[in-house]
Amino acid sequence: MSDSNKVVVCDACLQASCWQGEFMCEKSRDAGTIEKTRAELAKLGLEHPHYWVNPRYWDKKKPKVADMAKSKLAIQDDRMLIDPAFGTDKPYPSHAAQYREYHGRCAWLYNPWTGKDRHPSDIGSDPTGLAICK
Ligand SMILES: [Zn+2]
Repeated sequence: MSDSNKVVVCDACLQASCWQGEFMCEKSRDAGTIEKTRAELAKLGLEHPHYWVNPRYWDKKKPKVADMAKSKLAIQDDRMLIDPAFGTDKPYPSHAAQYREYHGRCAWLYNPWTGKDRHPSDIGSDPTGLAICK
């Protein structure tokens, strides 16, 4: 379907890097995609041409979703502000993976990055908060 001379770009900012999830513009959430030729994009000069490779690959892979999943997991490396089991300040250890190791099978009742209560069904399916994203 898509011509290999064409590049899929975000229809709001006309940048492939946005559609690929690299640098998402403000409107990217509601934006769709359109195809532009490399010549058209070069004329616009909005981004480095290295984003214009493999349009087919990006077409199929829906990288925005992949990128979102990546950024969700990234929080697990942030320092925790609240103790996930007791809801108190200054958790020890303050790194999620280290906390799990240190406290073993202790259920995480609080989201340690926001301090909010976790939903009981989330606790049931993910007792130690491996899937917490924010
Ligand atoms: Zn955009």
